[in-house]
Amino acid sequence: MTDVLAIADHRDGELRDVSFELATAGRALADETGGDVHLAVISGPVDDFADGLALDGVDVVHTVEYGDEFNHDVYVQAISQLYETIEPQYVLVPNSVNGLDYAPAVAARLDLPIVTDVVDLDVDGETLIATREMYGGKVETTTELDAGTALATIREGEWPAAEGAGESSIDAFDAEIDEAAIGSTVTGFEEVAGGDVDISEADLLVSIGRGIEEEENLDLIRDLADALDATLSSSRPIVDAGWLPANRQVGQSGKVVTPEVYIAIGISGAVQHVAGMKGADTIVAINTDPNAPIMDIADYAIHDDLFDVVPALIEQFS
Ligand SMILES: Cc1cc2nc3c(=O)[nH]c(=O)nc-3n(C[C@H](O)[C@H](O)[C@H](O)COP(=O)(O)OP(=O)(O)OC[C@H]3O[C@@H](n4cnc5c(N)ncnc54)[C@H](O)[C@@H]3O)c2cc1C
Repeated sequence: MTDVLAIADHRDGELRDVSFELATAGRALADETGGDVHLAVISGPVDDFADGLALDGVDVVHTVEYGDEFNHDVYVQAISQLYETIEPQYVLVPNSVNGLDYAPAVAARLDLPIVTDVVDLDVDGETLIATREMYGGKVETTTELDAGTALATIREGEWPAAEGAGESSIDAFDAEIDEAAIGSTVTGFEEVAGGDVDISEADLLVSIGRGIEEEENLDLIRDLADALDATLSSSRPIVDAGWLPANRQVGQSGKVVTPEVYIAIGISGAVQHVAGMKGADTIVAINTDPNAPIMDIADYAIHDDLFDVVPALIEQFS
């Protein structure tokens, strides 16, 4: 038992970014155990998905054709059967809404220890060492699972996405799904009201915080977002005030985002906020306080008043 089995995530016919991050996490782990990386995709257009998942570092892509969307019972059955066939040492699951739905059931069925919301993984002999964050990212803890095998759910945005086509073999896995054991039926996928935008998929985010002072000043930020063709997001106080819907909130109790560029405007950089955006490739901060924590993690820190800087940026990019 040295292989790693990772489970891809998809929604509404699209693979989610975490699927590619799982390939990277799986490869790093398999390099430690000396095994292969098996990446499985269950339900949806699995043949199309398999082409996209045949990534550098992935040895085998397993497809399980059954239904269009995620179904708890189908996933639990399919993953359990994949596990019994492949006999991997470790199973990696996204710490997503879907992943958190089925991971405990899979762990219970297979009698595997489980560790959730992992931000880093290491191996020491037969022990899996999982790093997790507590108290809004203020404290890191390590959990050691020495059962030899284990299941871990990995936090989205913590590993770089695997890129580049590999020479993965593709295996159509013939899972025997017991239909009598399917307790729920998924009839389709519907975004909640106001869920028109998924900020976790955006490449360029213009994000606003309490420094904006008043709701009407949001128009200025919208103009900047338009000029840059960027997506608008925010810190929690903006959502709490009802100025933007909850699906725009970045952070621990909001969404984890991994854009190429994150422009933090009038945001202090509290740990709960940083927990959601530290995976951005480039961080630009605009803040009147040079000692604001966001300035320490920014690649470009603009120490100035947003009401001066933002109009200048709009003029520059319009
Ligand atoms: C359990 C828990 C979960 C939480 N989850 C989240 C979460 O998911 N996301 C989140 O964001 N927060 C979250 N929070 C809240 C978090 O602790 C902070 O309170 C919040 O992030 C602060 O938002 P802010 O940076 O917009 O506001 P502030 O901390 O008030 O910062 C405003 C910033 O704007 C700057 N500023 C003011 N005027 C200007 C100007 N004219 N030009 C430029 N800069 C200016 C100030 O210098 C300051 O740095 C959570 C808190 C708890 C307890």
